[in-house]
Amino acid sequence: MASIDMKNIVKQYGDGFPAVNDVSIDVRDGEFMILVGPSGCGKSTLLRMIVGLEDITSGDMMIGERRVNDLAPRDRNLAMVFQNYALYPHLTVYENIAFPLRLAKASDAEVDEKVRAASKTLELDEHLDRKPGNLSGGQRQRVAMGRAIVREADAFLFDEPLSNLDAKLRGQMRTEISRLQKRLGITTVYVTHDQTEAMTLGDRVAVLKRGILQQLATPRELYENP
Ligand code: ADP
Ligand code: ADP
Repeated sequence: MASIDMKNIVKQYGDGFPAVNDVSIDVRDGEFMILVGPSGCGKSTLLRMIVGLEDITSGDMMIGERRVNDLAPRDRNLAMVFQNYALYPHLTVYENIAFPLRLAKASDAEVDEKVRAASKTLELDEHLDRKPGNLSGGQRQRVAMGRAIVREADAFLFDEPLSNLDAKLRGQMRTEISRLQKRLGITTVYVTHDQTEAMTLGDRVAVLKRGILQQLATPRELYENP
């Protein structure tokens, strides 16, 4: 686990307004940070700069004590939990969760220990032999998180994971993600344009507008001082 400290981060595409303009956000170890704002405010660009999928024009991106501006995504040890879950349909839940360990050539014993521990935490232990096609949306989301857990990633990053779901499922998943994040205590950055999500999920909320950080506060502070 680790903190993610963004210091004066700028992203300039071409010569227009910066997409991200001098943003500083300190995500503490174990904290659930929301990035919220209207379409085009720079949320995804900021998230992609954390993961390393986008170059940083200026500023410092710190993960723990490390400056990661020039590190490749694979060297940052972060886990993007994708909106479409990116699960392998032909593999069982067990093998989907085991996948990063297989890539790293872990022994069968290590794979088994880690997959079982993760699936217990995520309450997937009764579904290990099933395939993703037979799971609920919530269960699929948990498999995607399981894959990140066995990799021992330092943080979870979510980019609008619930935006394609209907209102009922969205409500359920919101509760579930929040509960699991608390249980795992893993540093999390979560992008959304949805005010309800922003005000119910996170420990703190960073409000962006046209690339500029407008507010950085707890949901309660935002509620009392909008
Ligand atoms: P959000 O995620 O909040 O909707 P984005 O981070 O996707 O916002 O975009 C922020 C701004 O940067 C927008 O004005 C968008 O048009 C611009 N932008 C995003 N990606 C690119 C790109 N690859 N090239 C040029 N401009 C981009
Ligand atoms: P390789 O580059 O060895 O072929 P991959 O392309 O699967 O392996 O992954 C490259 C690196 O990207 C991995 O070592 C891992 O650290 C990182 N990575 C893989 N999946 C994710 C993810 N969901 N989110 C963030 N980083 C990831």
